[in-house]
Amino acid sequence: MPPLDLAIHGGTIVTATETRRADLGIADGKIVAIGEVGEALVEEDATGLLVLPGVVDPHTHLEAQFRADGPYTADDFLSGTEAAACGGVTTIIDYARQFPGAMLSDGIREWTARAADKALIDYSFHIVVTDFSDATLAEVPALLADGFPSVKAFMMRISDADLLKLMRASADAGGLVMAHAENAAVLDHQKEILFAEGKRAARWYVDSRPEIGEADATARAIAYADLTGATVCVVHLSCDAALQRVREAKARGSRPWIEVRPCYLLLDADRYTAEGVDPLTLSGCPPLRQAWNLDKLWAGLADGAIDMVGSDHCAWTLREKSVGADDFSQIPHGIPALETQLPTLWSVGVSHNGLAMEDGRSANRLVEAMSTAPAKLHGLYPRKGTIAIGSDADLVLFDDNRRETVRQATLHSRAGYEPCEGMEVVGWPVATFSRGELIARDGGIVARPGRGQLLRRQPPPRRA
Ligand code: MN
Repeated sequence: MPPLDLAIHGGTIVTATETRRADLGIADGKIVAIGEVGEALVEEDATGLLVLPGVVDPHTHLEAQFRADGPYTADDFLSGTEAAACGGVTTIIDYARQFPGAMLSDGIREWTARAADKALIDYSFHIVVTDFSDATLAEVPALLADGFPSVKAFMMRISDADLLKLMRASADAGGLVMAHAENAAVLDHQKEILFAEGKRAARWYVDSRPEIGEADATARAIAYADLTGATVCVVHLSCDAALQRVREAKARGSRPWIEVRPCYLLLDADRYTAEGVDPLTLSGCPPLRQAWNLDKLWAGLADGAIDMVGSDHCAWTLREKSVGADDFSQIPHGIPALETQLPTLWSVGVSHNGLAMEDGRSANRLVEAMSTAPAKLHGLYPRKGTIAIGSDADLVLFDDNRRETVRQATLHSRAGYEPCEGMEVVGWPVATFSRGELIARDGGIVARPGRGQLLRRQPPPRRA
């Protein structure tokens, strides 16, 4: 038998379902042995470390624009996937955009071209639909057949009629609708009131997007999915008001998928007025919520009301964000999170047991939420999202005892700031492998740009 390409010795494997000491053997980029592992060309000592499946991040915005002639986000597919690799992320599903007058497939083609020569890790795309004509909707099944089954709707920018049409098209094709759930009327109402009171500065951004607008749109997205038979995933759920609508809907038999974003589990709205903090560096969309929401979201992640984590990494420099310094409605939405999501969520959720799972299963639940669940929903499982014979050897060596302080200066995003700056964490990724190839070690990149592969995906599973 020829030697394996790589053997990882002495580590403790953590998957969604188990934690156990086992060596791993890797050949041709796949896991081929667990436990009894033969001779290998490269031997990696993981003694004292955890071995996790690489994070599958189902929500990024790299090299993105709001409009075809608009500025690009700070991170392209090089710096973005450098940040990902160093943070233990081995797959991203980014949002390609349909520009006006273009087809959905044009968006996929354009974003693939942006990623192809740069990406260090494997990538796929959702498509943001901006035109709801019959011609666009007729493309949904073809795109699904081509391996891109998920379409995105920003509910605050489209009519309910268009959302229903998109959901029906997706349901007919057996696809998935990703919903950004905010209510436009609520946003307009708040802006009018705040502006009338002279409250235009960035610090009022948080008041401009209240929880009730998200809760209402979340309930509506789920109800419309029920009506049309669509499979829906509500992205970046941020607050208990919306989570309650999810729980109510599920109790009635609805089966939505729910994604949460790291910042809503880590940071709260008091930061907008904290000493020395520029609110622009925390202006994701929706905004951070009041502190009491955090425990509710952790509980939702623990009990499965929330399925998974997506970073919604969308880095704008402060210079780009400064157009909204005196007018919150002009702030380019988005903050970085790709590189810090695993250690920060591990620290709070597992090291400090914020997940509070029984029998020490918090680590398994976090792995499920950050790797396995997104891989399953987005048609990449079991190739991605777990450690099993035949799966891609996308692996993170994780030191769950290592203490670190999050510092923007050591990270790879080009945002120029870090929302979790100064956070002290317990647990840190120390090496990342993609298809058996070492791509990052101790915060340094050792991979060749363009080695990442475009992933075509299966349609979403039917939820029991
Ligand atoms: Mn997003």
